Amino acid sequence: MNYKKEVFVEHIKNAGVVGAGGAGFPTHVKVDAKADYVILNAAECEPLLRVDQQLIDLYADEIIEGLSIITKVVGAKKAFIGIKGKHSAVISNLSKKIEGKNKIEIFQLEDFYPAGDEQILVYEITKRVVPEASIPLKVGCIVINVETVLNIFNSLNEIPVTHTFVTIAGEVDKPSTFKLPIGITIREALELAGIKDGEDLSIIEGGPMMGDLILDWEKPITKTTKGLIALKSDSYIINKKRINEDQALRMSKAACLQCRMCTDMCPRYLLGHKMYPHLTMRKSNYDRKGTQGAEIAYLCSECAVCELYACPAGLSPRLINIHYKKKLNENGEKYISSNEEPHAKHLMDYRKVPVKRLISRLGLDNYDVDAPLYDIDYKPKVVNIPLKQHIGRASIPIVEIGQNVIKGELIGDIPKDSLGAKVHSSIDGKVVQISDVITIEGI
Ligand code: SF4
Ligand code: SF4
Repeated sequence: MNYKKEVFVEHIKNAGVVGAGGAGFPTHVKVDAKADYVILNAAECEPLLRVDQQLIDLYADEIIEGLSIITKVVGAKKAFIGIKGKHSAVISNLSKKIEGKNKIEIFQLEDFYPAGDEQILVYEITKRVVPEASIPLKVGCIVINVETVLNIFNSLNEIPVTHTFVTIAGEVDKPSTFKLPIGITIREALELAGIKDGEDLSIIEGGPMMGDLILDWEKPITKTTKGLIALKSDSYIINKKRINEDQALRMSKAACLQCRMCTDMCPRYLLGHKMYPHLTMRKSNYDRKGTQGAEIAYLCSECAVCELYACPAGLSPRLINIHYKKKLNENGEKYISSNEEPHAKHLMDYRKVPVKRLISRLGLDNYDVDAPLYDIDYKPKVVNIPLKQHIGRASIPIVEIGQNVIKGELIGDIPKDSLGAKVHSSIDGKVVQISDVITIEGI
């Protein structure tokens, strides 16, 4: 189908599509561009997550159609499907589906972490290096996650984002992937996978590497929730996730060897960026006050290779970078790039972190199993839909308490002239409360 760019962008905007695989950047802004390449990010490199690799198989026609349309609209010469070579059955299915579509090519990735980091993915496929503190578009690439492309396809058929796909894995009897209504609680989602009390369990939202420890199980599922990993509360990763910035700073001062393994293994350093986590550690150890010299923290992708794989002393350069990013932000200080063109280090290929080895290092071997996607059509009694599930400003409620809404109805709009995303009801029901979330009771 042929779409004018304004029409295409408007459909996506109206459906409230945001990047489902990351921080939730509004997709109508991302695709309102011209690019050489569109890259479908199907790498799904976080251990245990099983969303994209199933969606791209189950919804192959919709995703390929969506990808073709995006490629045409942004004027790209080619679209690449970046998927790990280990998914051979999926690749074989996709290969048949793209026969005759000479603008779409499958690029098979090795099984390493973080293959799904969009800057790494761009380099792997195009050998272009995204400049420091910049985005793939700077080198002519648009990178879009699998679920996001499915949502784009749906938006062209007037279907807004009301649900999200979530893998529930780890200490569960039946690791599963579900399509869940936005606004149900994490507790409800866990119950669907058989976790009832979970007294000795802790939950990570996202993958084990970049995900956060969830302290409040009543928190709602949002458009960007991809995974809930249940682990024993005394497990290695949960203990690491419990470390706060103050503890990380104290441990760094006591134990950092300045061996620079964190730097040598850092994917952004290997990409040629001036990212030297051992220097940020040194700065925090000997000159904690002030931020001069810590500006490179802005270049950190928070991938956690340094703290969960590289550091022999078990320290947390990632957390120290987060600490400095906050301080720099508070002071309004920016990273000033030298504008030198970065060149990937030739050692990059030899320093990729194999996912199998990473899983062993994290103590997750027993949980590295399938998590099949079940279509459960879950009907919650109530949903709490956040007005901010995306990068940008929170949506403005456009419904009133007592108003009946239907699934897919617009309930929150983008503030005028702002970056944001629209929000829709995920169930048929009645609005009972409005704050920073809209509470809807099912009818
Ligand atoms: S790897 Fe660990 S010990 Fe070595 S420099 Fe980095 S933080 Fe310090
Ligand atoms: S988290 Fe560590 S390894 Fe990852 S980009 Fe930041 S400093 Fe580099």
